[in-house]
Amino acid sequence: MPEALVEVQDLVKYFPVYQRGVLLKKKVGDVHAIDNVSFKVGRGETLGLVGESGCGKTTTGKVMLDLETGDSGKVLFEGKEVHESLKKAPRSEKLALRRSMQMVFQNPYGSLDPRMTVFDIISEPFVIHKHIPHVEWKDRVYSLLKLVGLEEYHAERYPHEFSGGQRQRISIARALATEPKFIVADEPVSSLDVSIRAQILNLLEDLQKKTGISFLYISHDLSSVRQVSQFVAVMYLGKIFEYAPVNQVFDKPLNPYTMALLSAVPIPDPVRQTKRIILPGDVPSPVNPPSGCRFHPRCPYAAEVCKTDEPPLRELGSGHLVACHFAEKFA
Ligand code: SF4
Repeated sequence: MPEALVEVQDLVKYFPVYQRGVLLKKKVGDVHAIDNVSFKVGRGETLGLVGESGCGKTTTGKVMLDLETGDSGKVLFEGKEVHESLKKAPRSEKLALRRSMQMVFQNPYGSLDPRMTVFDIISEPFVIHKHIPHVEWKDRVYSLLKLVGLEEYHAERYPHEFSGGQRQRISIARALATEPKFIVADEPVSSLDVSIRAQILNLLEDLQKKTGISFLYISHDLSSVRQVSQFVAVMYLGKIFEYAPVNQVFDKPLNPYTMALLSAVPIPDPVRQTKRIILPGDVPSPVNPPSGCRFHPRCPYAAEVCKTDEPPLRELGSGHLVACHFAEKFA
């Protein structure tokens, strides 16, 4: 893995849960959204972050960009702690850091202001960050439109005049307007038609080749994760269960939860067949996660030790980290 651009160290984020009484509301627990999560994103690489809805993927992305504040732990960008830098660094440094890290949201319908033209949407970061002279705005907007596969004449149109895929291209162009080194792409294709998804995924891959951007690609769709990622982290109830190069995760998963997720991915080969692993029950509440291994109530391989002892994330083979007491059995 190349040098880390972004590093997450022991990140924790809980959301308090309140119960409203007659006069006052009192705290009755915490949603354990992120619980001691650590990983790295290399320069020019994509880390796919996968897991079921509500497992803490989006919160992780937001805390990395300081859109949410973590309770403890660190996020380092080029070796500097992001939250502290944004609080204490001089204004010019803060703006430079904000420019370097951007987010592309899931819903291209809700993330674009319907009253603004595409030109105004894409050039808005130039107004905020003042990193591009005004005389160059037009050329920059046109070149960004070209980069994401749109035409110059699209600049004068409004978001409602575009399809879902084209709107996501506009969102990506806006994120690129600050010349970022790192983008958190949160389910960027999940609200799009299947035929459009492939175009956006290809676009992300092309952009990475052309600009060397690093991505955190958040998704519950493992097929798209396999296409765009070099590394994969599997998350369950706020914890990382497996982290490895993409082929190792897909070809030789070592955690039963990863195996169950992968068994649900359709294989476009009528001869090859996989046995679908059906997990019993629902994902437990993140307010009161199970003791020991959080996956034990649903795991087909759970033993007594899994109910009491939390498995640490440990390395089994080159760069393959896994949290399971019995991972050697699956190697
Ligand atoms: Fe399953 Fe136990 Fe491994 Fe957790 S530690 S994944 S419960 S076998």
